[in-house]
Amino acid sequence: MRKYSAFAVAREAFRHHKGWERAWASPEPKSSYDVVIVGAGGHGLASAYYLGKNFGITNVAVIEKGWLGGGNTGRNTTIIRSNYLQDPSAAIYEKARSLYETLSQDLNYNIMFSPRGVIMLAQTHHEVRGYVRTAHANALQGVNTRFIDKHEVKKLVPIMNIEGPRYPVLGGLWQPRGGTARHDAVAWGYARACSDMGMDIIQQTEVTGVRREGGAVSGVETTRGFIGCKKLGVVVAGHSGVVAEMAGFRLPLESVPLQALVSEPIKPCMDVVVMANTVHGYLSQSDKGEMVIGGGTDSHNNYTQRGSFHHVEETVRALVETFPMLSRLKMLRQWGGIVDVTGDRSPILSKTPVEGVFINCGWGTGGFKAIPGSGWGFAELMAKGHSPLTAEFGMERFREGRFIDESVAAGVAH
Ligand SMILES: Cc1cc2nc3c(=O)[nH]c(=O)nc-3n(C[C@H](O)[C@H](O)[C@H](O)COP(=O)(O)OP(=O)(O)OC[C@H]3O[C@@H](n4cnc5c(N)ncnc54)[C@H](O)[C@@H]3O)c2cc1C
Repeated sequence: MRKYSAFAVAREAFRHHKGWERAWASPEPKSSYDVVIVGAGGHGLASAYYLGKNFGITNVAVIEKGWLGGGNTGRNTTIIRSNYLQDPSAAIYEKARSLYETLSQDLNYNIMFSPRGVIMLAQTHHEVRGYVRTAHANALQGVNTRFIDKHEVKKLVPIMNIEGPRYPVLGGLWQPRGGTARHDAVAWGYARACSDMGMDIIQQTEVTGVRREGGAVSGVETTRGFIGCKKLGVVVAGHSGVVAEMAGFRLPLESVPLQALVSEPIKPCMDVVVMANTVHGYLSQSDKGEMVIGGGTDSHNNYTQRGSFHHVEETVRALVETFPMLSRLKMLRQWGGIVDVTGDRSPILSKTPVEGVFINCGWGTGGFKAIPGSGWGFAELMAKGHSPLTAEFGMERFREGRFIDESVAAGVAH
């Protein structure tokens, strides 16, 4: 595949842009592969990419029932941070954040990583204690965060009202190299690199069954027929329970819609990402000028991938005290994605009871930030049978009571 470069743009300008190749191929499925990954979201594509890049395993198919990146990967609010409390979480999220720093160069695809900084507001004394504790934990883990006072918060975000009557801002957990990236570009960049290594990305093909022989996986039934494989990676986020059932095991997670919305575009007014977990909302400003606003999950399990009016009202109402200017903005669009939430709010990257089947799920409301680290660790787990990055995230932890409690870092946040 031709490299993207300033030279290539100049060359194509002279040729009326007729020489660009398709970013990835759309091949017919082969009868079998060494590895099949179900789900062409960020995590599935990154897993395939690092299988090829780090382990030379390229006889791989990524099977997607819709279009690649059309699940949560293309629906999230793109916040990237690694300020989690527990050591295994900090390790995988910081690995991901550090890979994001150079991902555009690595993939030769501009993923628009913008390390503009992330503040998690403390608006109760309980939150102050929690975030000071996280800042101490992060210092020990080598993650660059610190607790800042309300004056520093105001300096970073002048549009904020820090003296609100109900929830005054008391300070915040500040991660200066957190930020955002273009979500579609992350999926597209990985897809292009996978295709370039000879992997098959098979879209519009649903996996409908998992075939087993003698307790081990032998392939998947799909809407385009049977595809054999030696190893199967299930990376389908909100539909993990459905595919696990096809393979004959159950997962300790719930599927719920998570919603977000954007305002009309306005002039630049906020150049950091702000999360307000007590009032339950968070926002950043996109390059187009829209305020990108995230809310909470639906209160009941369901698979409806869309927004609802009362969420817009609840989320904006919650944020208006701290961001009074929001009350003057028109909201343009809203949407939802189906997220997979575990009891301890940490992901599952694990072998399963079926030999050769591996599962990567449970990223819940906050897995976009983890994509490169998750793909790195999951590829190692699939290739070698173990990975230091994923060792603590096995599904047996729920049976053994070894929870990785991230309810403060990930319960409502993203
Ligand atoms: C509104 C919203 C806001 C969010 N905000 C943030 C944020 O700011 N920061 C952050 O870090 N995270 C955020 N997240 C979470 C993040 O988007 C997800 O954790 C992450 O994208 C999950 O990626 P994935 O690749 O596992 O799943 P997905 O991108 O959902 O990919 C799974 C794919 O599997 C496919 N699939 C399912 N079943 C089958 C089948 N049977 N056969 C074939 N294919 C199948 C689906 O079509 C889908 O494309 C947010 C999520 C939402 C919904």
